[in-house]
Amino acid sequence: MTETRNVDPAEIARFQAAASRWWDPAGEMRPLHELNPVRLEYVERAGSLAGRAVIDVGCGGGLLAEAMARRGARVTALDLAPDLLEVARLHALESGTTIDYRLESAEDHAARHPERYDVATCMEMLEHVPDPAQVVAALAALVRPGGHVFVSTINRTPRAYLHAVIGAEYVLRLLPAGTHTYDKFIRPSELSAWARDSGLATADVAGLDYDPFSRVARVATDARVNYLMHFTKPAAEPPPR
Ligand code: SAH
Repeated sequence: MTETRNVDPAEIARFQAAASRWWDPAGEMRPLHELNPVRLEYVERAGSLAGRAVIDVGCGGGLLAEAMARRGARVTALDLAPDLLEVARLHALESGTTIDYRLESAEDHAARHPERYDVATCMEMLEHVPDPAQVVAALAALVRPGGHVFVSTINRTPRAYLHAVIGAEYVLRLLPAGTHTYDKFIRPSELSAWARDSGLATADVAGLDYDPFSRVARVATDARVNYLMHFTKPAAEPPPR
């Protein structure tokens, strides 16, 4: 169980409501299904995932967690939505992947298992959390020196408001209305500053382009709407001699 208060129960309830349809590629999580291969490829900036200890924070029904496990990673995945973890566990059973799914916050897990992981991922979650900087600090604490952190979220720009809120929720109805709150969107500069405060270095920022008409997702230079960031935790200093 979890002790953190850094969670919005209304957000959890909203995601839980989609639990039974999470793995339906034509359901309301369709955009996540279509973004997933691109996210996986981006995470492989850290090198091959085979044999790596990876933690996925805010895993939902396990789309990315399973994809990473299929690449040979040893995956632990956290969420605070019990129904989503149930869906994730059942799906892993069906697909024959081994993932350690836990109902636990990143903050609590980091307090118990600091520096346990080579790679930490946190996709499309920070814009749903009351204090995202605190989650970034937990991600930094979870990886070992020399480890990698990957985050995706939505930028706070007029274009993001138009595409991610008005377009996706109201015009195209790709996502349920109310999924995103503009004020919770995060600028890359803000994410980068939180990461720096937590001892991480920014290695890359990339746009995550999703065309709702062609349904094509790809990494792009334009980070005005969805984007991915790659951070590294500096390797420990060699002892003075
Ligand atoms: N990362 C997954 C799911 C994104 S949806 C993917 O991209 O495929 C956002 C997820 O974050 C939901 O599963 C929701 O339950 C979870 N979440 C929201 N707040 C959280 C918190 N404070 N700690 C852990 N998970 C949280």
